[in-house]
Amino acid sequence: MQNNPIQKSVATILASLPPHVQLVAAAKTRTPEELKCAVEAGVTLVGYNYVQEAEAMFSHLDHRVQWHLIGHLQHNKAKRAVQLFDMIETIDSLRIAERVDRYCAEIDKIMPVLIEINSGKESNKTGVLPENLDDLVGEVSQLSHLRIRGLMTMGPRFGNPEDSRLYFKATKAAFDHLLQTKLVTDEFTYLSMGMSNTYPIAIEEGANIVRVGTKLFGER
Ligand SMILES: *Cc1c(COP(=O)(O)O)cnc(C)c1O
Repeated sequence: MQNNPIQKSVATILASLPPHVQLVAAAKTRTPEELKCAVEAGVTLVGYNYVQEAEAMFSHLDHRVQWHLIGHLQHNKAKRAVQLFDMIETIDSLRIAERVDRYCAEIDKIMPVLIEINSGKESNKTGVLPENLDDLVGEVSQLSHLRIRGLMTMGPRFGNPEDSRLYFKATKAAFDHLLQTKLVTDEFTYLSMGMSNTYPIAIEEGANIVRVGTKLFGER
C-alpha cells in the first residue's frame, strides 16, 4: 500500500498531525479511485466545494466517510446539501442558515455547522465579516435543526504561508471571544483553518480541523 503516492502522503500527514486535529481531505477534481486510495489509507472526512461533485462521489463511498461541505452553499442547492452532508462548514448568512434549517426540519435531521468568517475582510470572499459574527451566531443558534459547532476560515491565498498567520490568529480570537459569550454551547469546539501550504501554521494557531487537497493528492 505504501507504493501508492496518495496513500503514502495520507499516511505521512495523518502521522504528523497532533491527535486532536482532524483531517478533511479536500477532494475537488479527484477521481473516485484517488479518493478511495485516500480512504483506504485512513481518511475519514471528505470535503467538497460543490454539492453536485459530492453527489457524484457519494455512490462510491456513501457512509464509509463523513462528508463536509467546504465551499459556498448556493441557495438552490441547499435541499440536496442537507440530504448529503454530515457537516456544513460554510454558513455565512442568516438567509442560508434558515434555508438549511427548513430542509433539515423536513427530513428530521440535525445539521452540525461551522460559521465561515471572512477573517481577511476581503470584498471578493465569502464568509461573515468579523464585526457581524456575534449577530449571526446569535441568530443561527436560535434555529432548531442547526448546531453551531465552531468556526471556519479560508484566509487570503498568499504566496507566503506565514502571511496567513494573522488571519488564523484573528479567527482563533473570534472563537475564544464567542466562548466567553452565552451565544454558543459546549458543542462549540471546532476551528477549521489551514490548507496544504498553511495547515502547520493553522495548527499552531489553534486549528483542530485542517482541509488538505494538494498535499494529499498532488497538484490539481
Ligand atoms: C481546495 C480547498 C482546500 C484545500 O486546498 P489545497 O491547497 O489543495 O490543500 C481547502 N479548503 C477549501 C475551502 C478548498 O476549496
